[in-house]
Amino acid sequence: KTEPPPDLKGIGERILKKSVSDLAKAITYIESQSPEHFTYGQELLKLLLPHTGKSIRIGITGVPGAGKSTFIESFGTMLCDRGHRVAVLAVDPSSSISGGSILGDKTRMEQLARHPNAFIRPSPTGGTLGGVHRKTRETMLLCEAAGFDVLLIETVGVGQSEFIVRSMTDFFMLLALTGAGDDLQGMKKGIIELVDAVLVNKADGENKQAAEKTKKEYDQFLHELKPSTKGWQSTAFTCSALKKEGIEDIWNAIASFKSLTEASGILAERRRNQTKEWLRSLMEDQLKQLFFQHPYVKTHLADLERKTMEGLMTPAQAAEQLFKEIFPRSD
Ligand code: GDP
Repeated sequence: KTEPPPDLKGIGERILKKSVSDLAKAITYIESQSPEHFTYGQELLKLLLPHTGKSIRIGITGVPGAGKSTFIESFGTMLCDRGHRVAVLAVDPSSSISGGSILGDKTRMEQLARHPNAFIRPSPTGGTLGGVHRKTRETMLLCEAAGFDVLLIETVGVGQSEFIVRSMTDFFMLLALTGAGDDLQGMKKGIIELVDAVLVNKADGENKQAAEKTKKEYDQFLHELKPSTKGWQSTAFTCSALKKEGIEDIWNAIASFKSLTEASGILAERRRNQTKEWLRSLMEDQLKQLFFQHPYVKTHLADLERKTMEGLMTPAQAAEQLFKEIFPRSD
């Protein structure tokens, strides 16, 4: 059965007047699997697009236990108290599979969740990484139209999700713990190359001195790297999310980053490139889906796989056969 179409213009106008309930409704359209809702969501986005782009988009990553929710709670509350409007979103493609702790869960940030200037939205669940990517990017734009001027996009440091969050934010930071050794040795190196700042958290009590030492190690390492953002020297900080210490310094750094990259045009260029990449990834996802849903692929793939495994044809030949059928050459 079909529901009557919603008053999209009305919803859009109320979003511009900062109505959070209308924002939430628009986000459910964006996140929905239904084709009608998809259309509603896209129509709304188109209406609101001229009113987007006015926030600073901040990405935060870190292993579970690094203190992301504690940090967002302290940092977000500080900004809300100063009159900023802060939206917290999450990219967590694993949450639907693992059923583990949910990023962006309000119970992880109770004080912020109650603040009238804050909006917290958990990661969209289900679907592919590309799907989560699309939904989060579109939700960011809706939040901007609703007047949120600080967007915090949280992700846990697994697999591709850090690259995805880097690809949709202006400023990207790693929340790290004391003892940089393992990170710098290897596994986290790829991530450190992407960040604009490293925050060594839990710099309090007995841990304070060790945190300072870790900060210096990161700083040294960051200085040897090609900067993640042209014209910006990525820097390490210490902070205590729990004691709310060093939080202000990070905001000051982000504010300098913003004015510097706005003046140089780097920020606008980054966003233009991000939009182009986003379009590309949408097309690639769509292509993949169309390909695997194609009736010819569905009926022949298993057989072709078997033939390649048995050495009766090469993988390239099998792929060629499928593509020839789907994209016949006109010449
Ligand atoms: P997340 O998994 O990255 O979101 O980490 P949480 O914010 O849930 O924090 C994990 C644990 O570390 C919790 O028990 C926090 O209370 C604690 N924690 C977070 N930040 C700090 C800090 O700055 N100092 C200290 N001592 N503990 C902290």
